[in-house]
Amino acid sequence: VFDLDGTLLDTNAVDAHCYSAAWRDEFGIDCASLAWSSFENVTDSGIAVELLARSGFWSSRENLLRVENRFIQLLDEAVLQDRTRFQPIPGAEAIIELLARTGWSVAIATGAWHSSARIKLRAAGLSLPDVPLASCENGPSRVEIVQHAIELAMQKEDGREPHRIVLIGDATWDVQTARQMSLPFIGIGRDEKRASLVESGAAHVLADYSDFMVFEDVLETAVVPGRVI
Ligand SMILES: [Mg+2]
Repeated sequence: VFDLDGTLLDTNAVDAHCYSAAWRDEFGIDCASLAWSSFENVTDSGIAVELLARSGFWSSRENLLRVENRFIQLLDEAVLQDRTRFQPIPGAEAIIELLARTGWSVAIATGAWHSSARIKLRAAGLSLPDVPLASCENGPSRVEIVQHAIELAMQKEDGREPHRIVLIGDATWDVQTARQMSLPFIGIGRDEKRASLVESGAAHVLADYSDFMVFEDVLETAVVPGRVI
């Protein structure tokens, strides 16, 4: 089960930029000083609900749609302006094809809004129509989104129970989700990102998927993130 932004796609920067701009445009809220990890549910909709409340707005369906619609509009514009801001993580597409051929069932569990996830995948040239995708609409929590992704993957495999499920992510909240669900975890990241994943309890962190052999190996040996002392 792969996270999307920062895990399969190198889109954290453009995603955060458009998300923040949507808040500025619709509600005059400045997201620059916000730590996403301080939100209870670090997903597009989870942050939206909490941010509206924190800022004294009613988290009505209408207000939520305002920010979502503006965000999608900005994301579409970003694709048209500069598609190079939407790149796959090296080896991502090939690893998904390889996994499908080696008996693994692949699913995506993203905290993004469903339509934005599809826009980003398409822009990065990685549309993956056959890969089940759970998004923040299946939440509110990351645990529920991952659970839904697993159910979708199982349906595709005619309900067969998987013998092993591995979560792959790039952020500290992904490590936390793996720990909450007792799932083995593989981190994707380099430099500071790698350091924060390790600090959060991830035992295995890879820079990308360019070494298929290493990734396949780590899929078998990955462990549930340890407790952080
Ligand atoms: Mg991510």
